[in-house]
Amino acid sequence: MVEFSFSARLAFGESRCYFFRMSGSPPTGAGTLNLLDLTPASARAVLVDWVAERELPSYRAGQMHRRLWQAPVESWEQATELPTALRTELGARFPLPRLIPDTVQQSSDGTRKYLWRLEDGEAIESVLIPSGSRRTLCISSQAGCALRCSFCATGRMGFRRNLTPFEIAGQIREVVLADPEEKPSNIVFMGMGEPLLNWPAVDAALSILNHPEGFGIGARHITVSTVGILPGMAEFAKRPEQFRLAISLHAPTSEQRLSMMPVEKKYDLASVLKAAEAFRKRITFEYVMIEGFNDSDADASQLAKLARRAGALVNILPLHPGGAPELTPTPLSRIGTFSERLRNQGVEAVVRRSRGLDINAACGQLRVEVEKKRRERKNVSGERNGVSGEGKAPGDASTHTSSPAQRGIV
Ligand code: SAH
Repeated sequence: MVEFSFSARLAFGESRCYFFRMSGSPPTGAGTLNLLDLTPASARAVLVDWVAERELPSYRAGQMHRRLWQAPVESWEQATELPTALRTELGARFPLPRLIPDTVQQSSDGTRKYLWRLEDGEAIESVLIPSGSRRTLCISSQAGCALRCSFCATGRMGFRRNLTPFEIAGQIREVVLADPEEKPSNIVFMGMGEPLLNWPAVDAALSILNHPEGFGIGARHITVSTVGILPGMAEFAKRPEQFRLAISLHAPTSEQRLSMMPVEKKYDLASVLKAAEAFRKRITFEYVMIEGFNDSDADASQLAKLARRAGALVNILPLHPGGAPELTPTPLSRIGTFSERLRNQGVEAVVRRSRGLDINAACGQLRVEVEKKRRERKNVSGERNGVSGEGKAPGDASTHTSSPAQRGIV
């Protein structure tokens, strides 16, 4: 059983910030199997066999299976429809791991940001964005990211490791455990990491999200966002469900893209757009607007050409200032002119409101802030103990920070 001790509550203007301290997580080890790492079909097969070996009534397998994703429990102890002895046995064989909420921030606009602590100490982020009857959860697929896009806070911390299927789908599970009424209606893979560089785990997680015996979220309400990893795109295109694809384009020419996204060297714009043709459903282009960099009339016309050819919707994202303090967001009036220009050229363009501006809601920012505070605390206690040369904490943003010129943006 995991317990949280409430240790602090800070006021950030209108937003609130809660800190929790981890006090334990269930044991995982030899002789145990994490059913939450399996697709619903595989987990069902394991449970059916397990129930049969024990000569239990076969309906028990279904009861147990429901407790993984459909009506999740924090631990088997809570599955009171099962006999006590069986719950104990399940706990020993199939422990249900948790993601531990390290920090939860609530923005004045309703956006909520979570920093989850993983078993090995890594930290990942999710953001819940309510909008009318919709609750979109933005989830992470990797701890850190290898891509180093110039405007992105996660890119600066570098790559830490891939997430497991449980750590991806567990972000939704934790939100549902905290309040079943808040079950997300939409999922976007727009948190930390590049989902198509972690395809096997993302593949399994997509099944958990979409399967009726998983979360049962419609495929059209699940969007995978990528810079355009070609092998991953080819795998994703093979899935028969109608999952959505978003491509982080951010620049209308290969040259401009290369100066903000090093991945352009490996998978160039033309090849990415060609690979996108394999998707039957309408795709989205994401376009972060950076002043004086990708927001001219000529950029709009070139982008319109690409979007028309691909039949893509353009999602215009105002640059979240926390991700790249040295870059300037395009002013809203200019964003308006730019999007109008796209529409006049026959392209559907939506300007996304910046949400959670008061809570570090851009990808990677919360982890950077929390790790910095931890380091500061450690440094203070290190100095007190006469220790010098404090090591960098995992994910230290400053370790990887380069100047705008070094990253090709001036
Ligand atoms: N690696 C994937 C998914 C993670 S990032 C991808 O690149 O698509 C999700 C989206 O947030 C991407 O479009 C990314 O470019 C955007 N993003 C990152 N930092 C941002 C910032 N500071 N402001 C606005 N959008 C940002």
